[in-house]
Amino acid sequence: MKADLEATLPKLPPLPSPTSTGRSPTFGIALVIVTFAAFIGFTALSPSGLRLYLLICTLVETGVALACVWIVVFVEPPHIQRTPESTLPIPREVETRLAAGQTTEGMENVKDESGRTFCVRCLVWRPSGGVESKEDTIFWRRRAKRQTAHHCRYCQRCVIGHDHHCSLIGRCIAGEGGARGSGNLKYVQLGFAMAGLAFLTVCVALAGTAFTS
Ligand SMILES: [Zn+2]
Ligand SMILES: [Zn+2]
Repeated sequence: MKADLEATLPKLPPLPSPTSTGRSPTFGIALVIVTFAAFIGFTALSPSGLRLYLLICTLVETGVALACVWIVVFVEPPHIQRTPESTLPIPREVETRLAAGQTTEGMENVKDESGRTFCVRCLVWRPSGGVESKEDTIFWRRRAKRQTAHHCRYCQRCVIGHDHHCSLIGRCIAGEGGARGSGNLKYVQLGFAMAGLAFLTVCVALAGTAFTS
């Protein structure tokens, strides 16, 4: 099947590599670990009578937040794949450059009369009304929806449902999430929700401290 697809694809140069800057997740991971370690520390040191329960809450919130970070770092959001439908027809000016053995560097993206945009870096067409995606999971069913794609200059891909590139975590925040390969926005939101909940848990622990002292 893959061999069939490759046989029908035009000969194109390889996709550009992601840049070395803006793609490191180290600072974001360290920030999350330090923040949640502080939440756990404050809760553990509280003399509140509810300390054990609050500590369990904080540990669960930390576990969920770390799982969200893991997903965002290691599961890349979807991008427009090179297929015969997404690459053909190659715009004449791009084809001329490639035939001459030149790169497309410095060229502007090409628009056609139907509103599609040809990304001269990924060499794919971005549909005018967005890319259709259907996100059914074992937990819920959703209708097919269209999400617009945007070229990320750090990830060097036309990312579907692009929201922004997060420099802290070094990844694109895109799509929605919930199904494999459908994006990570929901996991980012869930991670922030866990940070908020953990902060509230610490506040309850500290309030308990003040009450018992
Ligand atoms: Zn692109
Ligand atoms: Zn990106």
